[in-house]
Amino acid sequence: MTSLQKKIARLVTMHGPIDVSQYMHLAMADPDYGYYKTAQPFGREGDFITAPETSQMFGEMIAVWAIAAWQSMGHPQPFLLCEAGPGRGTLMDDILRTIGKLAPHCAASAHVALVETSPRLTRQQKQKLRRHGTRLQWVEHFAQLPPMPLVLIANELFDVLPIHQYVAAGGRFYERMVALSPEGQLCFTRGVSPAQLARLPVAAGTLADGTVIEISPAREALSGEISTHLAKQRGAALIIDYGALEPATGDTLQAMSRHSFRNPLENPGGYDLTSHVDFAALARAAHRAGCHSAAMTQGDFLLRLGLLERAGRLGADRDDTMRQQIVADVERLAGPDQMGELFKVLCIADPATTMPPFAWA
Ligand code: SAH
Repeated sequence: MTSLQKKIARLVTMHGPIDVSQYMHLAMADPDYGYYKTAQPFGREGDFITAPETSQMFGEMIAVWAIAAWQSMGHPQPFLLCEAGPGRGTLMDDILRTIGKLAPHCAASAHVALVETSPRLTRQQKQKLRRHGTRLQWVEHFAQLPPMPLVLIANELFDVLPIHQYVAAGGRFYERMVALSPEGQLCFTRGVSPAQLARLPVAAGTLADGTVIEISPAREALSGEISTHLAKQRGAALIIDYGALEPATGDTLQAMSRHSFRNPLENPGGYDLTSHVDFAALARAAHRAGCHSAAMTQGDFLLRLGLLERAGRLGADRDDTMRQQIVADVERLAGPDQMGELFKVLCIADPATTMPPFAWA
């Protein structure tokens, strides 16, 4: 057993089974052994490669969107350009470089803020973004941001926020819990009594026994918090992640290590633990806060913003090897069998702000 497995096993022995949300939180954020404390998540040598780590073109397209958002808001100065969950800082680096080139006036009006909970990644981000000067601010929670018009980007942040899982059985839902097997291993079990839930996307009676559904109060709360800020101060947010646009059923909890899927209970703290994002739930939270929203696949989003044209220009004076790499990057970011369809882009904005290429429903 690893140190964190032992710690969780002790907790379960003393207090009884813990829910999936608590398990995810311990695995990711335990102050001694949590994933973000100990792991090297990003890149080819790490556990996974995100879109901004794949190619600079991703950040360039997001920058084009951010400039359009700022213009649509009426060029506020100053405004808050914020990234939540910035990882190695690569996306913000590409965004700032591109905005500086395409829209210096927008760049000059931007007060840059990064929302990050990991001290280690914060240090990496500061190092990476040093060259963009001193108008950068780091906070641990979204609520600490100053009240200003906002353009916010979050790529692969919501998938790491914890979820609860419920299992249908005999017309009722029982929370899925983490317990200890007779052999002393972490295992899934069912809560002892039916879950009392006010809001669920589906009725248990319509589902086959054993079907898992997932909800995430943490994700809905963050979407609501961002949207409340947008409705009050004006602005737009772009939330990018893997998941479904329509409510879906099924167990999507996943552990990723060195680019392959692993058993989520096998090595807490050692693997990246995530689940698919329910974009419909995030959109509902945005509407409750008085915002508009629209969504599309990442492939559609990038193509409509001009990914192919940008790739053409980028490859124009490069050699064949580089050009093949650019083609492969486009395929990875927007190809339907790669990130293009699985990843979705949700745009949330205050009602007065229009946001091409999105159309409000
Ligand atoms: N956006 C980056 C990294 C994605 S990984 C990319 O696309 O490459 C998730 C990031 O979110 C990490 O930086 C992690 O430390 C951060 N994070 C995790 N929980 C968070 C929270 N509650 N608030 C803000 N950031 C968080």
